Amino acid sequence: MEKNDIMDENSQWVFPLGEAIVLTNQFDAARQEHRDRLGRTLVKRLEERGFHALYIQTKEEALSEVLKLIPEGASVGVPGSVTIREIGAMEKLAERGCSVIHHWNPSLSQEERMNTLRDELLADYFLTSSNAITLDGLLVNIDGNGNRVSGMAWGKNTLIFVIGLNKVSNSLDEAIARTRNQATPPNALRLHLQTPCASTGRCTDCDSPDRACKALLVLERATGGRTTHVILVGEDLGF
Ligand code: SF4
Repeated sequence: MEKNDIMDENSQWVFPLGEAIVLTNQFDAARQEHRDRLGRTLVKRLEERGFHALYIQTKEEALSEVLKLIPEGASVGVPGSVTIREIGAMEKLAERGCSVIHHWNPSLSQEERMNTLRDELLADYFLTSSNAITLDGLLVNIDGNGNRVSGMAWGKNTLIFVIGLNKVSNSLDEAIARTRNQATPPNALRLHLQTPCASTGRCTDCDSPDRACKALLVLERATGGRTTHVILVGEDLGF
């Protein structure tokens, strides 16, 4: 047996390493093709629901699309969103002269923070993500303060979602379960909340004073009086 041969669990020879690399490339290509087809399918479902939808493969492309949608000098409200920070949108928008309004600045006083939460909602663009998207195009969102879901439900501004395909769920029930069992626990840990999901990693539908999921918004259609864009990304983004 050659050292580089690939063994199965019974220590049986399967194929040489060179062939394994070829197969790995094929696996990666199949994964990418699956993501691409899923992304294109979701775009159709979202457009049927009145959203302006687009699928792209990478977070770099997502950033480029965001920058195409938001003109220089615009004000941009960014509520609590890991995705938007992960694609690097905030720095790039600020570099282009946009006023980026966000309340995650720890030096804000309580009054400044409340004013910032309000100003996020009133900016020219509201830039965020969803916690889950169903296969038929529902956008499912959970919130502790309610500011983020408020800005999604109504506004005179343009709403932009950036959503990684890691957030796709089969049904509304699965999407809600995702918000509580996958999205909220890392957020609770990040915010040092004393919740069961932070301790155990699983939701118990708690009565904790620190409960992070107090408001649930399901966007079934793009809401009236504004344009809503959804940029789907074929990568894992956010929680
Ligand atoms: S209900 Fe409580 S335990 Fe469940 S996800 Fe929300 S904060 Fe965590």
